Amino acid sequence: MSSDPAIALLRDLVQINSINPSLVAGAPGEGEIAQLIAGHMRRLGLEVDVEEVAPGRPNVVGVLEGRSPGPSLMFCGHLDTVGVDGMRAPFDPVEADGRLYGRGAQDMKGGVAAMIDAARVAAGRGLRSGRLIVAAVVDEEYASIGADALVARWGADAAVVTEPTGLEVAVAHKGFAWCEVETRGRAAHGSRPLEGRDAIVRMGRVLRALEALDRDLQSRPPHPLMGTASLHASIIGGGREMSSYPDRCVLQYERRTVGGETPLAIEHELAELLRRLRDEDAEFDAAARITVTRPAYELPQDHRLAQTLARTVARVSGRPAPFSAMTFWTDAAVLGEAGIPAVLFGPGGAGLHGVEEYVEIEDVRRCRDALAALALEWCGQ
Ligand SMILES: [Zn+2]
Repeated sequence: MSSDPAIALLRDLVQINSINPSLVAGAPGEGEIAQLIAGHMRRLGLEVDVEEVAPGRPNVVGVLEGRSPGPSLMFCGHLDTVGVDGMRAPFDPVEADGRLYGRGAQDMKGGVAAMIDAARVAAGRGLRSGRLIVAAVVDEEYASIGADALVARWGADAAVVTEPTGLEVAVAHKGFAWCEVETRGRAAHGSRPLEGRDAIVRMGRVLRALEALDRDLQSRPPHPLMGTASLHASIIGGGREMSSYPDRCVLQYERRTVGGETPLAIEHELAELLRRLRDEDAEFDAAARITVTRPAYELPQDHRLAQTLARTVARVSGRPAPFSAMTFWTDAAVLGEAGIPAVLFGPGGAGLHGVEEYVEIEDVRRCRDALAALALEWCGQ
């Protein structure tokens, strides 16, 4: 078992069930893990602020002040995890072959342990100016109410979100829009085709059009880091019983977006698709709406934060740190929208949201070392 304080903290974090209760009904949420982190950060000498974002679901923010005013840096990580269906021992942090296994080990208790332990190193040396803000937030896996609450009260000149990037400096990630289409038919006895209008069969036309749209999206020139946009059908439902024409069918699909695609553009795309189907058949009746959108995020690679972090990582790991993009949406977009330039940087591993999840132990140490070096360079020592 590793005696490194970052790994000891990681073990403690994995042992606590912090499944997001908005994802899994009855799950405990972030209360217990937040309490542990608040106590840990206080012992490191940080000033700790605990803000309940929803009942039993607090953000924890630790602050290390420099000796004089100056540039501020934020580390941000989420405390919640997805569910544990199919996992053998999700809250038992087993170390083997240089890996630590358990739910959230990679996504993202490894990054949370690294950022908190980096604050321990920075506190030991002392910051010359500015401040280091270490924010552990709730609910990233569902609606990011934690990050929204964080940026309402806290600002910084730059931020590192310590999601798992395999020690790459990720300056971008895709966005998404959740879309809903309802086709309308007319209920009638199954023996009376002249009276009935089949809403499910009509949804077939929508699905065919979406398949063509997806092909088109994926054949467009890719964004250099994010790749191409895409979509997939997520959930579909309709029909009431065998002997009736279905009056209604509802499809929910997810559209993943790349830089420059606005929610309005996605709405137009969907309206246009339905208009074409209506042009082909005046009886085609459908309505659509977008239920959730989160934008893609990108920070220019020549931004001082990206450059400084890449230099620091190269120094710590002894090899150049490539710039990259993550496919999944993260809280970096919330920080970015709030005017805090952010990059993603965290340890590597595998099994994100899968039944066997692990983080590379050496990566957690390197991540901690790089974050500590960044804080000391950003704020001076
Ligand atoms: Zn995550």
